[in-house]
Amino acid sequence: MKLTNMEERIHILHGQSTTWSVIKDIVSSNNQEDAFYVCDVGDIIRKHKIWKAMLPRVEPFYAVKCNDNLVVLEVLNALGTGFDCASKAEINKVMGLGVSSDRIIFANPAKPASHLRHAAEMGVGLMTFDSDTELHKIKKLYPDARLVIRIRSDAVDVQCQLGNKFGCDANLEAPSLLALAAHLDLEVVGVSFHVGSGCREPAAFNRAIRAAKGVFEQAQRLGYNLSLLDIGGGYPGGKAESIQQMAEEINCALDEYFPETNIRIIAEPGRFFVGSAYTLTCNIYSIRNVVQTDSEGNIVDTHRMYYINDGVYGSFNCILYDHQVVEPKPLEQAPDAVYRPSSVWGPTCDGLDQVVDNVMLPEMKVGDWLVFEDMGAYTLPVASPFNGFPVPKVQLMFDEDVWSFLKDVLNLTEDHFEMLKVPSDLHLTKEVDSGFQLPDFPIKMEIPCR
Ligand code: PLP
Repeated sequence: MKLTNMEERIHILHGQSTTWSVIKDIVSSNNQEDAFYVCDVGDIIRKHKIWKAMLPRVEPFYAVKCNDNLVVLEVLNALGTGFDCASKAEINKVMGLGVSSDRIIFANPAKPASHLRHAAEMGVGLMTFDSDTELHKIKKLYPDARLVIRIRSDAVDVQCQLGNKFGCDANLEAPSLLALAAHLDLEVVGVSFHVGSGCREPAAFNRAIRAAKGVFEQAQRLGYNLSLLDIGGGYPGGKAESIQQMAEEINCALDEYFPETNIRIIAEPGRFFVGSAYTLTCNIYSIRNVVQTDSEGNIVDTHRMYYINDGVYGSFNCILYDHQVVEPKPLEQAPDAVYRPSSVWGPTCDGLDQVVDNVMLPEMKVGDWLVFEDMGAYTLPVASPFNGFPVPKVQLMFDEDVWSFLKDVLNLTEDHFEMLKVPSDLHLTKEVDSGFQLPDFPIKMEIPCR
């Protein structure tokens, strides 16, 4: 195993250790000054167990765009999930791990021609579409592809809307697109939707599954016998969040509209698998006290501005692009700490670089640390080193039994600790035996799924 300088970035949990105790060890032992992530690999495995228990009919195809860290992809590969890829580079990345083409869905409805040609070369035949332009392109470049029509069915309460960009109208547009596909002699195999990322309205899945059923019936009238339903992403992934209610809606809707067991049901969860696995810890490197006055100019309070070493151009891009609300938690806190109105700022020279605008925090000093939980989704793949501030590195944390199972699968190198490294060319490196048996992992799940 090529661990040389990396041992100090792998933490094997013993006894009572937790993410927070690992973070405290890191900041106290290593002259640590840079911001860093801790990735709890066991959390990803627990999520997989929860998914299997709560959504037994639904095969997860992990949405690579959400977090394409090698460890995440390799662990999910070892667990036997499929993958939702949006581009040629994502296809290369997962196939480079030994994932076979039949475990991939190319779920970007609008595909650049070169990416489509590449999918054809690699045999990644399952793909979504939502327009006549794409059907003509597919006819020309990959006529044997197996097509999934993406319909629009939006949740009302959602963190990020996607229906404004993708998904045809199930009643007004799907019939003519299916007719065109039939005319072009293309193989349509299923229907997909995405209710929106960070869905807060479980009933949205019922509506969308019902709409998909309508499209199955339209397709049948045209002579298609559809066999795949793709229920997209949208599942919450935070520590305090559960998919239970959503799973109940989905399971009920599947029982009602798709009772046939020969229909394959897949989903494209991203946030669910990685959100809570990653915790970011940032260092306070400067502080400014700003006097606040009332309308008559009397001093009423002092607002504390904390400057930390990661911001909206780095990990906290999720505030701008993913509409996340992040919560700073002091790593250490004196019992008698005085709370002050505070704001938290990133390290660049841009006034936009604000992480939290107004929050009550205990008075902190330069060198103290702020912890941000639930930072695994839509953070690292987008982060940039703007103004020369590096993107935080990842440290890995494993429960002891998970580590003993995974260490040979992972064969760790520097790349496992870095942000996005997308290969432009594919080098098949190794074969991974998928679906391996994990130790019986305790998960908290009070209510069993139907
Ligand atoms: N599938 C597609 C096509 C997407 O565009 C996305 C997110 O943008 C996902 C899946 C993942 O969604 P989520 O992270 O909400 O599960």
